[in-house]
Amino acid sequence: MVIQGLLENKVAVVTGGTRGIGLAIVYKFLEQGATVVLFGSRQETADAAVAKIKTEHPDYPVFGLAPNLSDYASVEQTFQKIFKEYGKIDILANNAGISARESLYDYKPEDFDKIMDLNVKALFNCSKAVAPYMREQGGGCIINTSSMVSIYGQAAGCGYPASKFAVNGLTKSLARELGKDGIRVNAVAPGVTKTDMLASLPDDMVARVSAGIPLGRPGEPEEIANVFLFLASYLASYVTGAIVSVDGATQA
Ligand code: NAD
Repeated sequence: MVIQGLLENKVAVVTGGTRGIGLAIVYKFLEQGATVVLFGSRQETADAAVAKIKTEHPDYPVFGLAPNLSDYASVEQTFQKIFKEYGKIDILANNAGISARESLYDYKPEDFDKIMDLNVKALFNCSKAVAPYMREQGGGCIINTSSMVSIYGQAAGCGYPASKFAVNGLTKSLARELGKDGIRVNAVAPGVTKTDMLASLPDDMVARVSAGIPLGRPGEPEEIANVFLFLASYLASYVTGAIVSVDGATQA
């Protein structure tokens, strides 16, 4: 069975939409009828992602922007612009993120700030900027990218799991706060997924991790995006405050 049109007439914003899991979410939302504004870390990478999609699908309504996600004024201005242009914002996928794996002994305090600025503060900034529009239009949904390390922690690079525990905290708290405004807030917690983030890990680490996955392999970005689609659609109309693991039953 082919599912079609789940996001017809919806307007979605996907942060970190230029590659990896974010790009898979962008494709999935477009396939299902949404208009998508993807955010990149630079305007050139956002434009390149849009150009790549347009080459394959010239008719897809996809646009690229690059606000500074850690700066509230930049984020607020960008959401204002999107709302003015498209008249609404139904879905926000807070996906941009960076990881770390230094031991505590080598961890630079400024790198801890960097990871918190993107993985946590950007999520706060985007949610704060979009919520008034969603409330005004009678509802919407926010989906955050967490990680399996938000459940198990991680043996090195403590800033990354700390940031993803915070993502879960924001998800559960905002779900409770914004439910009355018709805004659902959920998170997807991927396990090891085949993206640049995985490619940056040493081979022996990837092999070790894969061996510990009951399904025997890392996830594909599309398999993560499928769950974003479910959570963004009417099929999840009573799902909020959930942290959905998509990790092949990995136990860290
Ligand atoms: P990726 O490195 O392929 O993509 C990261 C995205 O974030 C890119 O689009 C990039 O432009 C954006 N980004 C990076 N720095 C930015 C900045 N300073 N400002 C704005 N945007 C910035 O990574 P991915 O694997 O696709 O990761 C996407 C999300 O999934 C992240 O939140 C990550 O923590 C999470 N995650 C990934 C895995 C995995 O195994 N790949 C597992 C669990 C969770």
